[in-house]
Parts: sequence; C-alpha cells; structure tokens
Amino acid sequence: MADRSQILLFGLDRVELAALVDSVGEPGYRAKQLLEAVYRQRVESIEQISTLSQQLRATLAERGVSVGLPRIEQKFVSQDGTVRYLIGFEDGQSVETVWMPEGDGGEAGDGSEAGDEAEDPGAGTSGAKARSEKDEPIAALKRRATQKPGRSTICISSQVGCAVDCRFCLTALLGVKRNLTAGEIVGQVCALLKDQKVSPPEDRINLVFMGMGEPFLNYENFVKASRLLVEEVGIAERRMTVSTAGIVPRINDFGLEKIRPKLAISLNASNDELRTRLMPLNKKWNLEMLMTAAREYPLRAREWITFEYVLLGGVNDAPENAKEVAELLKGMRCKVNLIALNPGPGIEFTTPGAERVAEFQTILRDSGIPAFVRRPRGRDIYAACGQLKRTVEIATAPAP
Ligand code: SAH
Repeated sequence: MADRSQILLFGLDRVELAALVDSVGEPGYRAKQLLEAVYRQRVESIEQISTLSQQLRATLAERGVSVGLPRIEQKFVSQDGTVRYLIGFEDGQSVETVWMPEGDGGEAGDGSEAGDEAEDPGAGTSGAKARSEKDEPIAALKRRATQKPGRSTICISSQVGCAVDCRFCLTALLGVKRNLTAGEIVGQVCALLKDQKVSPPEDRINLVFMGMGEPFLNYENFVKASRLLVEEVGIAERRMTVSTAGIVPRINDFGLEKIRPKLAISLNASNDELRTRLMPLNKKWNLEMLMTAAREYPLRAREWITFEYVLLGGVNDAPENAKEVAELLKGMRCKVNLIALNPGPGIEFTTPGAERVAEFQTILRDSGIPAFVRRPRGRDIYAACGQLKRTVEIATAPAP
C-alpha cells in the first residue's frame, strides 16, 4: 500500500477501515458503513456508497481509495449447471472460480454437502438434509418462494497458478505466478454472489478453497480472507473447507486459528514411493509427517478431517492401495472423498472405470472408514477438480 493510488477497500478488515476513516478525520461509524457497502452490498465504486456524504466520497477518491471488487471476465456454463468464472484483478492477472448450484441431489462427500455434514456427522445425507431444513423453516420457505437454489457451493482460488506440481493436475502446468491478496480471495466470492444474486445467510452457501493454488502456501492471506468471509460476508464457518496438498507446518499452525474452515488433505497415494511419484512435495513432507500432523490436529466437536484421493487408472486404484489407505487412516476421525481422475490435455493418466472406483470405496467402508465418491461437476467446461487452467490461456491470448 505504499502507492496511495492503490488503496483497495476489498480485503481491509474492521481495524484497517477504522484507521482509514480516522485518517480522513471521520467518525468511527463510517468504518461500519464501508464494511456494509463493500462486503454486504458489494458495491463496485465509491460513488455507489450512498450512506457516505458526497464530500466524503470525493475525499476518498482523491486519496486514491477504490473498492477493488474483481471483474468477471468470462463465464462458461456447464450442462450440469456448474458455472466457471474467469475473474480478473487490477494487474491483469486472473484466476478461475467455480459456482456449483444445487444439483440433482448430489452425493454425500461432494463439496456441496459440507455444511450438513458438520451438523450431523456420520449420518446419511438424507437424514442430515431433513434435520437442517427443519432447523431453518423460515429460510426454507423463503427459498421456495423465490425459487433460489438452496445449497450452492463456491470453489475459490488462492494463488494465480500453483507451485506444488502434482502430476495429475492441470493447474500445476501453469507454475505459480503470484499469491492472491486477502481482498482478491474474498472478492471472488463477492463477485459470484453478486452475479448469482444470492446472499448468505439467507441463501445457504458452502465454500471450498479447492480452486487454483495451494492455500497453505499463501497462508496469511488465506487466513485473513477466511476471517473476512465469516465475519463480514456472512458465510458460516462450518460450511467452509480448505484443502491442502500437505504443507505440514501450516497444518499445525492452522489448528491454532480461532476462525478456521474445516480441513481437507489431498492424500492421493497409499505409500511414500507412490506419493512421491505423484506429488513431489512428499519428499519434503512424507506420509509419516503428514499423518502425525493429521492425528494431532485439534478437531472441534462434530468435526473430522477429509482426505481426498484422486483415483488414477492402474496407478493408485488397486485393492492393495485401498487396504494401505485403510491402514494409514485407522482410528482417525476422518472420511475419504474419492475423485476419479478428471482428464485434461498434458495429463498422462487415465480415469478408472466405475466398478474399480466402487471396489476401492467398498474396501474402505468395510474397514470402517466413511468413503464417498465425488461427483464430477462441470467436466465439459473444464471446471472440475484439477482442471482449472484452460481459460487462463484463452484469456491471455490476444482478442480475436
Ligand atoms: N492445492 C490444494 C487445493 C486444490 S484442491 C490441494 O491440493 O489440496 C483440488 C483437489 O483436486 C485436490 O484434492 C487434488 O488432489 C484434486 N485433483 C487435482 N487434479 C485432479 C484431476 N485431474 N482430477 C481429479 N482431481 C484432481
């Protein structure tokens, strides 16, 4: 923020906004008005903040303050209703953010169920649904009246590209360009809420930090963004999940945060030899280190860790692998989300058949580990897990 022309309201918290209004000689309640305008009303310019006097709007503009709501550059709509957004920032960089509306019932284990699971651990999905609807009769009625989707999930990015280099992930092919600021992370959510005309808490929104990038390699900004999303945007903490490839020291730090989404860990292999081959970061933080951090992770009441496991045909999807996974996770308060590989150009692996996936799931379940198959969303528009890359290239190509 050295350059005054670069003060963006998006990303500032209560304390920082209070300092800003103080610096222009305004009373403290102005900070509240700014918070409301930015994170709840999601205004696009200072001019639109009608609660401020004309004079104050002019002063802020003179000081080089602007809102900084990211731009929606492109939108791709899938046959299944998933929407992939290309979101652009001040410096011309962009990321992808995915909107997954309530689908056709979904499956337990799909990210869209995140909130219900927290309310009713271990129960079947339909039971969890019935109970939470009962708890929110007014919201449910309202929803029916307005025909809005009752349960949608936003998948957000934390970095432009990714440095982790998982062999099966398209985002890895980009390398990492830069970290997103807290404002850019929160801004993705606000841009989508505005475009979809929904608002938490009236509309139930789940959030997953599972887009481009490794959130735990952009730790400070990610944590600040989570706080803003809960405190200012109004997303329920229990409906947020962050996924990490396994940055062990940050898993330890994360357990100590006061406000924190639920934790998911990308396991993806059942032994060190295989995991190092698929995820080179395993050389630095191997399975023993990862499992120790997971076992020591301070879970809250009715919380558990999710392990994601991408199934690659003939590579990590054999019954022996499933048995090894069961052994690794024995006795842990956890569940496994199985993801059959989403294919993409430049990815050398194949997607296993449904039977092979089901067999893997059965072995885990028979060992007492809750295991779910994640339904792919928006594969046709490259919006599914591990596919976020494509439009970055399209968008950076010269316009036709
Ligand atoms: N960097 C974090 C956040 C991304 S989450 C992490 O790795 O956890 C994206 C999830 O999709 C991860 O669990 C990852 O293992 C999975 N994934 C990556 N590429 C995939 C692909 N091609 N098909 C299916 N899942 C994939």
